[in-house]
Amino acid sequence: MLAYYARLAAVEPRLRVQEIGRDWSGQPLAALSIGSREPTPSRRAIVITSGTHAHELGGGQLMPELVHELLTTRQPNLNQALESIDLVIVPVVNPGGLQIVADWRERTRGQPHDGVEPPGQTHSIGHDLNRDWIMQTQPETRAVVQHVLNRWRPAIVLDLHEMPPHGPRYALPPYVEPIDPNIPSAVNQASDRLGNAIAAQMAREGKSGVATGLFFDAFSPARAYSPYHGGARVLAEAAGTRLGLPVYLSAVELASAPGFNPREASATHSYPWTGGRWSLSDVGAYHRTAAMTTIIEGARLDLEPVESLRPGAFVIPPLAMQPNPDAARRLRETLIAGDVRLEEAITAFQFAEVKLPAGTVIVDSAQPAWPWAASLLSVQHYPASQHGNPRPPYDVAAQTLPLLMGVDVIKTDQRPAVATRSLGLQRLPSPVPKSAGSVAVYCSQRPNAAEAGWAITMLTDAGNAPAKLSDAAIRSGDLDRFDIIILPHQRPDYLINGLNLADYPAEFVGGIGQIGIKRLKFWTKAGGLLIAIDGACRAVIDGIGLSIDAIDDGFYAPGSILRVELDAGHPVTGGCGAELAIMSVTSVAFGLRPDTGPDVRAIARYPLDDPLLSGWLSGWERLAGKAAIVEQRLGDGAVLLFGCRPLFRGQSLASRRMIVNAIGNARKS
Ligand SMILES: [Zn+2]
Repeated sequence: MLAYYARLAAVEPRLRVQEIGRDWSGQPLAALSIGSREPTPSRRAIVITSGTHAHELGGGQLMPELVHELLTTRQPNLNQALESIDLVIVPVVNPGGLQIVADWRERTRGQPHDGVEPPGQTHSIGHDLNRDWIMQTQPETRAVVQHVLNRWRPAIVLDLHEMPPHGPRYALPPYVEPIDPNIPSAVNQASDRLGNAIAAQMAREGKSGVATGLFFDAFSPARAYSPYHGGARVLAEAAGTRLGLPVYLSAVELASAPGFNPREASATHSYPWTGGRWSLSDVGAYHRTAAMTTIIEGARLDLEPVESLRPGAFVIPPLAMQPNPDAARRLRETLIAGDVRLEEAITAFQFAEVKLPAGTVIVDSAQPAWPWAASLLSVQHYPASQHGNPRPPYDVAAQTLPLLMGVDVIKTDQRPAVATRSLGLQRLPSPVPKSAGSVAVYCSQRPNAAEAGWAITMLTDAGNAPAKLSDAAIRSGDLDRFDIIILPHQRPDYLINGLNLADYPAEFVGGIGQIGIKRLKFWTKAGGLLIAIDGACRAVIDGIGLSIDAIDDGFYAPGSILRVELDAGHPVTGGCGAELAIMSVTSVAFGLRPDTGPDVRAIARYPLDDPLLSGWLSGWERLAGKAAIVEQRLGDGAVLLFGCRPLFRGQSLASRRMIVNAIGNARKS
């Protein structure tokens, strides 16, 4: 496809192909632009992205035809639109993942496994590339943000995705509640209008099964960059295929969802699909209509100016005053990578009865990226629905970076009166990872088990270079060469049982199994440090027979930031202070039994009052006084259980410190 785009560009001066970087696998990342050579303030830019998720093939496969059609069309309204806008297309955001999918299809062609998702990862962080827009830890998100979104500042972004095949054929904005209140309403209304316009055009073309206002909320900036930077995001989700193979579904096989009956017409689903064959070319045809309508309607859409923002600012004390200067520096880098303008005070100044020195950073609300800064730096108050109970978030309920990173930031209604200069920063190179060997991270064969990828990303960033441990290596490999083994969050049954034989070739089948748990137990007793995170804790508690109760019912924290009190005397809490903000995804808590001996120690406990710091927590009483992080000594080794996500998406730098401490201590001993 890249060769095809290059040939088109050779004969068509309006098209340019630019390499905006290399992906995680070393493949080139291409951006195609049709229109101006450089961004022009007077011209509206529209961006189309696809192939962020490797197994969602339709968008990327459509692009060669779409680009050809755009360059050769005789449709007056399309040509008129293309004359007035600059169009930038990132046809495949994850080309390395696409290669894995293509290789897997070749390998399984004609076999019973043809069409199932490839085992293991299709990206170094699995499916979660679309959760990396805040931290930009991966080369693809960095390239798309820095070279496309921050450069062209699009008014509209059409983001092509696919969902499971059994629901509607196509889902479009309006988004469902909750909408992040930091997104300007003019931006949100523009995505509503475009979503509705695409749905109407699909109805005119006889494309059935199109639904608006379903499933997808707009609460998480980790999934959406442009709405916080003045650009309407149109999330366009097609029903998927089996890696490009058609699916056959009768109307009765279509699945209902809350508020959606696939067999019934409604105001937001006017024309139900009646079942039949659904193929890659159907996905392409729907995506094509979405792209054409976005271009034609997007070019003439009367976009309201983003409303003027209330005065306000965030004040970030200088690095020397921060409890963790490295994390504070990372927060500055993160904001600048998100196009946020930082100012640095030239002199000392008085602020809220504190004297702050020169070098204090100010984030003023009078800037285009303020919604982004506000969403990342503020506490999230998860909104109650108009209909009573809040609707669970599509992703998470909180991302307050000052809490997750452990950085002091002050929010104020009034910008402090002090002279400033603009603060530019270059990303510091990450520390060179120590030689591999002593730390290993378990990596499941289940498709896109993202937590292992995040664990490796965050440990590498902290200067460790973990080895990857497969199911088979835990069942029968040499574990003695490792001092520390980390089991990332995973459902316990997935961890134990892995993939099954009905779906996958024998070599990929089976998890770590009971035999793997037994081997981890003996390895720990012989002096190893076993770290289990969230879902993996239950498998370890049950499998090894630890005298700890796992509690995972009676409360609900869908990606919320909670406060825990630390045992300051334990070596893993060094540098963490007396209290810590942890990320809980209804993460397991621990009850210590009355007969617990000195071999079990609670390292972090929930307070006796409501521990919610940001997001949404119901049933906090269930957590009161329970342990969030526990150590159990076992022979010459120890098991560390984390009832939280200390290696969360590049964000949880404050709690990562405990894992880094544990690794450092285990290496020393
Ligand atoms: Zn997707």
